[in-house]
Amino acid sequence: MHDTERSDTTRYGTLPVATVRTQVTVPLRFPDGFATTARVFSFHGLVDAREHLALGLGDRAGSLDRHPADRPAPLVRPHSECLTGDVFGSQRCDCGPQLREAVERIAGAGGFLLYLRQEGRGIGLYTKLDAYALQDTGLDTYQANLALGHSEDERDYTAAAQMLGALGADRVALLTNNPDKVDQLSRLGVTVTERVPTGVYLCPANAGYLAAKADRAARTLDLPLAASRV
Ligand SMILES: [Zn+2]
Repeated sequence: MHDTERSDTTRYGTLPVATVRTQVTVPLRFPDGFATTARVFSFHGLVDAREHLALGLGDRAGSLDRHPADRPAPLVRPHSECLTGDVFGSQRCDCGPQLREAVERIAGAGGFLLYLRQEGRGIGLYTKLDAYALQDTGLDTYQANLALGHSEDERDYTAAAQMLGALGADRVALLTNNPDKVDQLSRLGVTVTERVPTGVYLCPANAGYLAAKADRAARTLDLPLAASRV
């Protein structure tokens, strides 16, 4: 165990090593009837001390010590917590359907859903609701965050990289439409073998939100690497 931890320290440079704290099997059933089984992992040593979770799904739904080393890179989705979308089905964003799709696709391919406790792109639940109120006056989701004194997007994937290290997943196929997630995880020492796009879930209430996301993604791609956020 200690030898594994040391090699992870080398692989991730200065990234502090996290370890698995608890792993436990949780059967899942979604409101539409889809059911699967998850191995839920908690961690020691995450840099922000938040209670992030990893869900092992498909061929990763068993105990970690029974994951053979020679399997293909797991399909991984870092999903940032969205209480309103994930739990209550809010139509102001597409987080609920994205989460539901991710669980089924990862269960099929084998991999991990990283459930990251960074609500509202990292600004927190109450501030996200403040931002919604501003959006109702005409600002888009990013402009509203700036108006509240925050960055456009404060999500950070350092803990996600630590979790992948603890799970022995140094090579991953990343399920995301967001090139920033690939960029951040690559800088943190995770080898992204492939970016697998997710579906787009459009409804009247989230059309403006999705348009702002697409516009920002396009601008991010046009920026030279040195100018994009670290
Ligand atoms: Zn959301």
